[in-house]
Amino acid sequence: MRDEWREVVLGLGSNLGDSIVILQGAVHDLAAVEGLEVTASSAVFETDPVGGPEQPMFLNAVLLGRTTLRNHELLAAGQEVEQHWQRTRDVRWGPRTLDVDIIAMGDERADDPDLTIPHRLAHERPFVLVPWLAVDPEAELIGWGSVAALLHDLDASGVRPTDLRLDVPAPGEDHDA
Ligand code: ATP
Ligand code: CA
Ligand code: CA
Repeated sequence: MRDEWREVVLGLGSNLGDSIVILQGAVHDLAAVEGLEVTASSAVFETDPVGGPEQPMFLNAVLLGRTTLRNHELLAAGQEVEQHWQRTRDVRWGPRTLDVDIIAMGDERADDPDLTIPHRLAHERPFVLVPWLAVDPEAELIGWGSVAALLHDLDASGVRPTDLRLDVPAPGEDHDA
């Protein structure tokens, strides 16, 4: 099982600090995780905050990759990267330097108190679905069907493209010792 690579989709968001620097740093950190490869990144989108207190706009991107990690190992890896960028959790859905969400993981389904896969709100979030579709026009959300069809029924006016791009390191590049 552990040698099996499964496709993963990760959602990144930041609206505190130097968000583009943080997102780029997060891509490098995630690519350096043993058992996780980042293969592609969407462009960066500027998005209106959804839920939570009044707060600055977000930068969001979606990463595609593959992993041999188990679901909780991947969750822990994402949380470590959040910590590296001084993520705090003061207010629910409040501003954050970095959010790393597991959107999907192969055909995995999890419904644990601390981990739901696919992400329980991904299907209704344009700030996840728009970048995902941008990096994978064939994207399918397990249990929900095509991302393009999901977006057809959503208001995505709060999600705007930018010229910002995230560099994805080649496999083997930049690994931690
Ligand atoms: P949302 O989950 O609505 O996007 P959030 O990202 O602001 O909100 P966090 O404070 O980052 O929420 O995370 C709260 C908890 O969500 C985490 O501690 C984690 O255990 C749990 N969680 C459940 N499913 C997932 C998932 N698929 N990816 C990341 N975290 C998850
Ligand atoms: Ca989130
Ligand atoms: Ca999160």
